[in-house]
Amino acid sequence: MALFFLHGIVDEWSSSFVNRNYGSRAALEKHLRARSTPYGRWEDGSQVDHLSVDDSTRAGAEACLLARALGHEVVFFINPLQIETGEQYFFSYLDAFIDACTVFHIQYDGIAYGLEDYSARRRFRRAVKTSVKGLASDEAAARVKEIGTLLGAAETQPAAHALPPTLDNLRQLAAAGVRIENHGWSHIDIAALSRSGFAEHVVKGRAWIRKRLDRDSRLYAVPFGVSAVPEEWAELAGDAYFLAREDFAPTQLTERCWNRHDLTPRLQDS
Ligand SMILES: [Zn+2]
Repeated sequence: MALFFLHGIVDEWSSSFVNRNYGSRAALEKHLRARSTPYGRWEDGSQVDHLSVDDSTRAGAEACLLARALGHEVVFFINPLQIETGEQYFFSYLDAFIDACTVFHIQYDGIAYGLEDYSARRRFRRAVKTSVKGLASDEAAARVKEIGTLLGAAETQPAAHALPPTLDNLRQLAAAGVRIENHGWSHIDIAALSRSGFAEHVVKGRAWIRKRLDRDSRLYAVPFGVSAVPEEWAELAGDAYFLAREDFAPTQLTERCWNRHDLTPRLQDS
């Protein structure tokens, strides 16, 4: 048994920040067709490998539909905030701003960053992400939009594939057999939350799925995939919760915690 995840697919993949967390449709199709056994249901446990897709984006919805069309089970971990409000992730803005940036240096939080090439831009992206990922989503987006101005890219919009799916889209996915589960109400770093804040983050997401999709959510994927849920909070997360760490094996780690590996790097070659 091994667990894999991705964030979604785009039709025409090329190297850019707006595509960096996505794979190509052709590569995912090839990967899914090449498997000797399909990705299985969560209930099938250790007999099968598991596939999930994180975040409320159209690219994620497309990956789920492709998996179902090719006979695979898939779990879609969504943030209801994006579906309910149409608000986009701060990182979707940040990636679009970095791709469109018209300056070569930036001063951020008292540190000077070069922006001359991909790896320099990545360093800057990581610094911004680290500083805003624990903020409420509207604050994080507002901070990143200020950065867009400094980058000379304020008018740039996130990529179309990063837009949230609509509620109707989600209902179509559910009807196609995609299992919709909880990525928390918003995409906040849980390390920034108190116990009650974490409880609200999980419960509000779960309640939305019940209200809008008439499903019981029992699975939860941690936003950013790095921060473990403290043991004494684990039962708040439901039957199982999921990380996304390359430094652990993609399997069960503790009673309720499973780890997943990112398929994306192997979907960006074509
Ligand atoms: Zn996520």
